[in-house]
Amino acid sequence: MAACLANRCVMCMSEEESSKHLFLDCRVSIGVWNWATQSARYPTLGYGCVAMYLRSGCVTT
Ligand SMILES: [Zn+2]
Repeated sequence: MAACLANRCVMCMSEEESSKHLFLDCRVSIGVWNWATQSARYPTLGYGCVAMYLRSGCVTT
Protein backbone atom coordinates (compact mmCIF):
# COMPACT_ATOMS: atom_id res chain seq x y z
CA MET A 1 0.00 0.00 0.00
CA ALA A 2 2.89 2.37 -0.64
CA ALA A 3 0.96 4.45 -3.10
CA CYS A 4 2.24 7.82 -4.27
CA LEU A 5 5.10 8.03 -1.80
CA ALA A 6 7.74 8.48 -4.48
CA ASN A 7 6.90 12.14 -5.01
CA ARG A 8 6.50 13.07 -1.38
CA CYS A 9 8.59 15.91 -0.05
CA VAL A 10 11.53 14.34 1.75
CA MET A 11 11.51 17.02 4.44
CA CYS A 12 7.92 17.17 5.64
CA MET A 13 6.60 13.92 4.11
CA SER A 14 3.18 15.47 3.84
CA GLU A 15 3.09 17.27 0.52
CA GLU A 16 3.91 16.51 -3.08
CA GLU A 17 7.50 17.37 -3.86
CA SER A 18 8.00 20.19 -6.32
CA SER A 19 10.36 23.12 -6.62
CA LYS A 20 7.57 25.47 -5.56
CA HIS A 21 6.77 23.42 -2.51
CA LEU A 22 10.40 22.95 -1.54
CA PHE A 23 11.23 26.66 -1.70
CA LEU A 24 7.97 28.36 -0.85
CA ASP A 25 5.49 26.10 0.83
CA CYS A 26 7.30 23.46 2.82
CA ARG A 27 7.12 24.29 6.52
CA VAL A 28 10.40 22.49 7.12
CA SER A 29 12.07 24.45 4.34
CA ILE A 30 10.73 27.75 5.69
CA GLY A 31 12.16 26.88 9.08
CA VAL A 32 15.53 26.14 7.51
CA TRP A 33 15.47 29.42 5.60
CA ASN A 34 14.69 31.36 8.75
CA TRP A 35 17.35 29.56 10.73
CA ALA A 36 19.97 29.98 8.01
CA THR A 37 19.34 33.66 7.41
CA GLN A 38 19.27 34.45 11.12
CA SER A 39 22.38 32.41 11.78
CA ALA A 40 24.19 34.15 8.96
CA ARG A 41 23.15 37.53 10.32
CA TYR A 42 21.85 38.73 6.99
CA PRO A 43 18.42 39.98 7.95
CA THR A 44 17.89 41.59 4.56
CA LEU A 45 18.20 38.17 2.95
CA GLY A 46 15.36 36.71 4.94
CA TYR A 47 12.85 34.21 3.73
CA GLY A 48 10.55 36.92 2.40
CA CYS A 49 13.22 38.15 0.02
CA VAL A 50 14.02 34.66 -1.15
CA ALA A 51 10.37 33.88 -1.72
CA MET A 52 9.90 37.11 -3.66
CA TYR A 53 12.95 36.39 -5.76
CA LEU A 54 11.77 32.88 -6.54
CA ARG A 55 8.24 34.00 -7.34
CA SER A 56 9.58 36.65 -9.69
CA GLY A 57 10.79 34.14 -12.24
CA CYS A 58 12.86 31.23 -11.06
CA VAL A 59 9.92 29.02 -10.17
CA THR A 60 7.10 28.43 -12.58
CA THR A 61 4.07 26.50 -11.56
ZN1 LIG B 1 7.74 19.70 2.40
